[in-house]
Amino acid sequence: QEKEVTHEFQADVSKLMKILINSLYSNKDIFLRELISNAADALNKVRFESLTDKSIMGEGDEAKMDIRIIPDEEENTVTIIDRGIGMSKDELVTNLGTIAHSGTQRFLQGVDNGTEAVDMIGQFGVGFYSSFLVADKVTVTSKRHGGKQHVWISNNAQSFEVFEDKSGVDLKRGTKIVLHLRDPSYANATKLQDLAIHYSEFVDFPIYIRMERDANDPRNKRSIDDDDDEDQPVESGEPSYTTEDGTTYDFIHINKHKAIWLRDPKEVPDEEYIEFFRSLTKDYKDTPLIWNHFSAEGDIGFRAILFIPGTPPSMEASIQGRQTSLKLYVKRVLIAEEFDDFLPRYLSFIRGVIDSDDVQLNVSREMLQESKALRQMGKKIVRKIIQMMHDMAEKQKSEGDNTYDEFYKRYHRFIKVGVMEDIPNRRRLAQLLRFNTTKSEKRPVSLDDYLVRMRPGQTDFFYIAGDPSNSNIMQSPFLLPYKRKGIEVLFLSDPVDEMMVRDIREYGDKIFICITAVERKSLKTESEFERDKLKEWKKRFKPLTQFFKETLGERVERVEVSTRLSADVRTPCVLSHVEGSASANLERYTREQNR
Ligand code: ADP
Ligand code: MG
Repeated sequence: QEKEVTHEFQADVSKLMKILINSLYSNKDIFLRELISNAADALNKVRFESLTDKSIMGEGDEAKMDIRIIPDEEENTVTIIDRGIGMSKDELVTNLGTIAHSGTQRFLQGVDNGTEAVDMIGQFGVGFYSSFLVADKVTVTSKRHGGKQHVWISNNAQSFEVFEDKSGVDLKRGTKIVLHLRDPSYANATKLQDLAIHYSEFVDFPIYIRMERDANDPRNKRSIDDDDDEDQPVESGEPSYTTEDGTTYDFIHINKHKAIWLRDPKEVPDEEYIEFFRSLTKDYKDTPLIWNHFSAEGDIGFRAILFIPGTPPSMEASIQGRQTSLKLYVKRVLIAEEFDDFLPRYLSFIRGVIDSDDVQLNVSREMLQESKALRQMGKKIVRKIIQMMHDMAEKQKSEGDNTYDEFYKRYHRFIKVGVMEDIPNRRRLAQLLRFNTTKSEKRPVSLDDYLVRMRPGQTDFFYIAGDPSNSNIMQSPFLLPYKRKGIEVLFLSDPVDEMMVRDIREYGDKIFICITAVERKSLKTESEFERDKLKEWKKRFKPLTQFFKETLGERVERVEVSTRLSADVRTPCVLSHVEGSASANLERYTREQNR
């Protein structure tokens, strides 16, 4: 006879539970979402493991890939059953007694850094322990395929017990969680149904909720009896829960929708994409700016829905990591939710799903990341995303909305990193850049717009670092000759702009020239008359320029007479920098960065 051992929760677990109970009292509903998502994770694991070991799937009841929710108002309980992977005794102790898993760990770190727990639940699952939001006693019965069945019980937030289950009720495989409710309203089937639809409608496994039998309830019309399925071959997903007292109940299948990405885009209303996006990101407040639902043909066929979130993630965090948060399914089996280096880091803000029938499945996740198929898919997806951005810009042009402006305001830094790092797609990305100019101070224009407006004979892009709303910039003596000659000058108002143009050097065969640099030959558009004059002046002012050079010594490269200021009677001289060296603006920026 096995001895019952009482385990203490790891200190972090007790802390988490305190935070949950104190701060999420108005968000208790999420417990169901968390338990359903754990059940779905467990089912995915079975499906995944059974690809290499068919025997794990089992037969009959065991093979059913579904999630059941059983409310009991008399007992004041909710039971959640899945036929997922199940947990061994050790796994029960570790998984439900410590915080070793990712989501909850990050949640705790975030709370430690001062983020409100309520703000964080949207981003991270808070996991199994959210059961204690609604229950004061939780019983988990679990069994792995071919293993022994164990019970985990906790009556409080301090300790739990684990022992072998001798009750004789065989789960065959999976997990049954009984919540002994503190709040009896959660034993109501209709309430649970609403919650499950709200949070878990797109879960890729059938979710059934047991309803009290009521012939007048119209919902029961689509429910299925489970009286007589005993000796029939049971199709995966059909409810067949047999109660011990022989009572018959109806189950309602709440997520009958086919996975949204398998449907015809023409038949999916916008609201459903938005809901899907929210369930995917677990951010129930955000609305995507744009999405693209498509299927790609070719060597590697796949279907995908890609979203650009309304709220961009922090630039720093996204650029530092290598992770791509796309859900990758292969034949409807979830293979990975986050994986490294699938998309380049400047696209790490993209969310979505990809489902392919053409990727070999009998490889490990690690190998999959290295696989050629995945790399090809990644390349295609990058091109699709850039196309989505172009579509927004086109739409704005033709329909006059401001989707692209909104997108650019939020994501321009990501695009700029892309311009610098994604050499094969550089040109397509650079087409997406927008700048204010001396001819368009309020409305930013593209480099192509600039090209079209170039003066005859103009061979380069001219820019000045700074913002047109800054009057110092607008009065800069450097600008004057360009204004006088009607040459458009780009304002690089974002500190990274200058680094970017210095990095890429050219666009469409035209190079970028900083107008605060020493003039190059190509900008000198003076007449022959001026040229002769200049020669003469240079000679005449030699003593002066020599005096400056001698006085300033090493601090200047050279001092010379120039015609660039000839129209400006107020400015006798300017300080310019050597072509190719950092502008004063960039130097200032670098200094600030290094402080
Ligand atoms: P997370 O899901 O982020 O890992 P949870 O607190 O929700 O965190 O769950 C903790 C762990 O407990 C899971 O990672 C999993 O290993 C295990 N677990 C929870 N619920 C189930 C279940 N229904 N079936 C199998 N394992 C489960
Ligand atoms: Mg979880």
